Amino acid sequence: MRKHVIAGNWKMNKVLSEAEAFLENISGKVPENEKVEAIVCAAFPFLPALVEKAKGTKVKIAAQNMHFEESGAFTGEVSPVMLHDIGVTHVVLGHSERREYFAETDETVNKKVHAAMKHGLIPIVCVGETLKQREANETMSVVETQVKEALKGLSPDQIGKTIIAYEPIWAIGTGKTASSSDANEVCAHIRKVVGEIASKETADKIIIQYGGSVKPANIDELLSQPDIDGALVGGASLEAESFLQLVEAGA
Ligand code: PEP
Repeated sequence: MRKHVIAGNWKMNKVLSEAEAFLENISGKVPENEKVEAIVCAAFPFLPALVEKAKGTKVKIAAQNMHFEESGAFTGEVSPVMLHDIGVTHVVLGHSERREYFAETDETVNKKVHAAMKHGLIPIVCVGETLKQREANETMSVVETQVKEALKGLSPDQIGKTIIAYEPIWAIGTGKTASSSDANEVCAHIRKVVGEIASKETADKIIIQYGGSVKPANIDELLSQPDIDGALVGGASLEAESFLQLVEAGA
């Protein structure tokens, strides 16, 4: 039985006092059972403080990006070694906003996934099609290529530890959600691809999230789908109350 993983992606939002208040608000309220895992993906400057604040709670703290090198002359970048050193457990890689605005490619995502694995971080790898690609019936092939490229060179064991977030780009921050059956169809395809490149056991194990305008009103239906194991949530993760509702739905 796979657990549900609910990850809140705050993007470039909140100052430190707001981030800390959020954690205080949800502290002690996140369901303690093993069925659900709650992750908050925060901006770099606040990660150490949030890791400290989350100690003793069930909330894990994630970064929203990182560089693939361990150290060196990469001004402005943050390495996997640094993230692991401060107690970050997860890292979002290949978010569509990074692919669109910061020249992230399948190749750099793959390098980052390898680096995350090497340094004990769990990558949350984002894949998803544009509206144009969906309308041209290219969703499955686009997503399949992104998944294969991101996971290239990983062992089945490493693939099994990865989280994949299927996020149709047209549904991110737009209020438009893929229907739960359409979302499930793509997640099922991703699972099939994982079975082909790794093993059936890995495919049964890997966590596949859906992301794109997930909110308390639609989470139950999405999580009722057999191949959707959680959600990567932007807007609805900014308020402690709605984030808690999403986590509770997964418990
Ligand atoms: C996201 O940032 O990954 C996302 C899915 O955003 P939203 O929930 O706001 O659509």
